[in-house]
Amino acid sequence: MNKNGFNVEVKGMEFKELTDGVKIPVLGIGTWKIGGGLRADRTHDKECMLAIKTAVKLGMTHIDTAELYGNGHAEDLVSEAIQEFRREQLFITTKVKSENLKYNDVVSAAKRSLKRLRISYVDLYLIHAPNPEVPIEETMKAMDYLVENKLTRFIGVSNFSVEQINEAQNHAKNKIIANQIEYNLLTRDQGQFTNEVESKIIPYCQKNGIMVIAYRPLAKGELAKPGIKLLDELAERYCRTQAQIAINWLISKPNVVTIPKAVRIEHIKENLGAIGWRLSEEDMRRLDCDFPVKDAFYNL
Ligand code: NAP
Repeated sequence: MNKNGFNVEVKGMEFKELTDGVKIPVLGIGTWKIGGGLRADRTHDKECMLAIKTAVKLGMTHIDTAELYGNGHAEDLVSEAIQEFRREQLFITTKVKSENLKYNDVVSAAKRSLKRLRISYVDLYLIHAPNPEVPIEETMKAMDYLVENKLTRFIGVSNFSVEQINEAQNHAKNKIIANQIEYNLLTRDQGQFTNEVESKIIPYCQKNGIMVIAYRPLAKGELAKPGIKLLDELAERYCRTQAQIAINWLISKPNVVTIPKAVRIEHIKENLGAIGWRLSEEDMRRLDCDFPVKDAFYNL
């Protein structure tokens, strides 16, 4: 346990430093489509809850959720799943929707999330996506309020460009410690919501001590399938799966952690096999430079 009593380390997990002595697991569990898409779907509640619980037990103690997911139901399921764990063992991230970025809306949304999660604070509260209709100054004042009132330990953003991070930071007393963005072998500079990820955003975050939380690490499962020559070759040579190579490539980069979503227990276990070893420098370079980004296609 660190001096604040937070983030007890689970044996076998790798961590990266988020800020002064506070660490985050390189591998967390994503919850989009757990408990529904944009609406709640309770059909698979038991299976989803078990998936989150298993992931945490196996060391994926960073849980990524959002008020948007299942219209709050993902947070309900996270709450069920974490009951048997000590709060300090977990790193819980949730997000405020881009339509809730006015001051009072941010504060109310955070309180609603905490109520669903049945906890008194989250570890990281993110602005899910920028909203040009609401002045960022107003939103950042509310984010500061949440830190000052201990409703969140840290604040961050998601789907923000370098310019948007800078502007947000200029209006906040607390440091923006993370930017959650789409980043995987197939999606480098041209994400669904962000451009220039690899050429601009990641170098900026690395330079400024901002953690990059890579979402869609498996391109929604596309990178877990055979069929991309270089990935197949490396999977065979390292005796790993395609998914493990794709995740290892991400977490081998400075200041990058990730949050694959998996409901199937065999997927969770497989993804854990992405840590505890490293691709060689030469293979990292080949994945950086020779991966067939342009040829790849996947449905969003
Ligand atoms: P993802 O993690 O790239 O892919 C999830 C899909 O891959 C699921 O269908 C899962 O199947 C499958 N999968 C996982 N591990 C696998 C394995 N080892 N082998 C084969 N298939 C595997 O995509 P994502 O869920 O979109 O992104 C991850 C998380 O990032 C989300 O859950 C969410 O928390 C976050 N996110 C944030 C934003 C944002 O705007 N901030 C946007 C998108 C996502 P099963 O579930 O059947 O196991």
